[in-house]
Amino acid sequence: MGQEFNRNLSRRTLLKFGAGVIGTGALTGWIGSKVLAQSISNSEILITEGDHPEHSTSGLTPDQALAKLMAGNQRFVEQKRVNPNQDFMRVTEVATGQAPFAAILSCADSRVVPEIAFDQGIGDLFVVRVAGNIAMLEGIGSEEYGVGVLGASVLMVLGHERCGAVDAALKGGELPGVIESLVYAIKPAVDTSEGQSGDRLTNAIKENVRMQVARLKTSSVIANAIAQDKLKVVGAYYDLDSGEVSLVD
Ligand SMILES: [Zn+2]
Repeated sequence: MGQEFNRNLSRRTLLKFGAGVIGTGALTGWIGSKVLAQSISNSEILITEGDHPEHSTSGLTPDQALAKLMAGNQRFVEQKRVNPNQDFMRVTEVATGQAPFAAILSCADSRVVPEIAFDQGIGDLFVVRVAGNIAMLEGIGSEEYGVGVLGASVLMVLGHERCGAVDAALKGGELPGVIESLVYAIKPAVDTSEGQSGDRLTNAIKENVRMQVARLKTSSVIANAIAQDKLKVVGAYYDLDSGEVSLVD
């Protein structure tokens, strides 16, 4: 596929294309496939071309997208959720194309549910969930898709209070199956945060968030979007007791 052809592909086409790809298989089906690789490569051209790059397909700047997330969390905390975009009309509205305004890398913990915690609905958030919210290859590829192809303008790594995965990395010891692979990815954060004042686990959780943010930023798709002012990558911490999300500097 020539570059000229790529340049002529509209974002709308890519969106439809992306929706089709996602609709036909599980994550494992499209990650690493030629189809996705082509989508990502197309999107890189879209991101880098032109003097005045368009903003996210959601129409929000990175700051606006972050503010929208935090406002939704505030509604959740104050028990004033409005449950937007959750009716059947929304199902049909986004059936042929998606333009989530935010991408999130969250823990798989059953108590941390981004759509509820940020009071959003169908088609609003592109969420990758994995224990310990670690940015491994498939997760980075997924978020590249959410940002580079679907146009999310904020990417948040969401760690949380009393995270079992980080706790396991902190305590060490034998773990069944391949759980050890999670510990391996989190261990550097445990080591880096050693000696910090305050709660040992909380420090490791927040350090892990920072480390995964840094890992995501090594992606050229994500770095390009940041350089074009189309994306902001932030770390955040979810308080299990209050449901409140705070940013991790
Ligand atoms: Zn967790």
